Amino acid sequence: MQNRITELFGIKYPIIQAGMIWCSGWELASAVSNAGGLGIIGAGSMYPDILKEQIKKCKATTSKPFAVNVPLLYPDIEKHFETIIEEKVPIVFTSAGNPSTWTAKLKQHGIKVVHVIANTKFALKAKDAGVDAIVAEGFEAGGHNGREETTTLCLIPQIRDAVDIPLIAAGGIGDGRAMCAAFALGAEGVQIGSRFVASMESSAHQNFKQRVIDSKEGDTVLTLKQLTPVRLIKNEFYRQVEEAEMRAANKEELAQILGRARAKKGMFEGDLKEGEFEVGQIISTFKEIKPAAEIVEEIWNDFSKTIKMLNSLRL
Ligand code: NDP
Repeated sequence: MQNRITELFGIKYPIIQAGMIWCSGWELASAVSNAGGLGIIGAGSMYPDILKEQIKKCKATTSKPFAVNVPLLYPDIEKHFETIIEEKVPIVFTSAGNPSTWTAKLKQHGIKVVHVIANTKFALKAKDAGVDAIVAEGFEAGGHNGREETTTLCLIPQIRDAVDIPLIAAGGIGDGRAMCAAFALGAEGVQIGSRFVASMESSAHQNFKQRVIDSKEGDTVLTLKQLTPVRLIKNEFYRQVEEAEMRAANKEELAQILGRARAKKGMFEGDLKEGEFEVGQIISTFKEIKPAAEIVEEIWNDFSKTIKMLNSLRL
């Protein structure tokens, strides 16, 4: 397939694996890129020296394009971008911050820049900043989430109508049917995170992968709205947050409950009770941990099947 997204990144399928803290290192990114999608290293949880090592390993294991995701609120951000420029990473996805801060500098070095947004105001800001494409991420998505709580179904057409640059849909997309729906709404590519958490190559703890596979409808919730809204799995840590929110705890108390390195405790170390597990609503549809390449193939085949099914409708 050829469209603006496959051409922009030089990839076979317009399927992008989301950069996820603690889950997407070089093994996952290179596996997805080798399978014809775009793999992304999630730099938000990596110290600068770790990111450098991860990029080198990714380059050694794939000759295909790959990207690095940098949340713009990362504390050592200059060091991350220094490494990215030095290592000639071809594509950067930025998120959780102002796109005008880094886009021009990265583009001067020939890097393609994509910014993640969750509303029209930021889509326009990203376009003005000169990004090559945007990811519009809806309410169903795992991890940090937009304050407007706009679902993917409502967000994509609004963004499509507001900007003409290449558009990637994210949030609630876990298979080819959802990919097809996103294309019907005006997207030209999809960014998929949660499905790849439960892949062989993801660096998520085995307990997290298994928890994703065992999950039922309603197991995730968008919470901590006074701090940064985040979608996570309901567990004992979440119950503490819920109890505090029920008695109208203030920001400071919530920040204290959250503490430091909760996400690492959960997603990387596998503490199912006290850890934080950032993942999307769609997990309840996943049944098996699979190799990333199989996931990419399956999504693409289901996408093609769904398009054929729609084409066969007698109108
Ligand atoms: P915390 O402040 O609770 O903890 C920081 C974590 O990041 C620690 O586990 C630490 O590892 C690790 N880390 C990596 N590099 C650094 C560094 N240079 N300085 C300090 N800590 C570092 O943050 P979170 O775990 O909630 O988030 C970590 C990062 O991920 C942030 O940059 C945040 O923006 C991003 N994030 C992105 C999300 C998204 O949806 N894109 C969702 C949530 C977070 P150690 O424990 O080994 O010291």
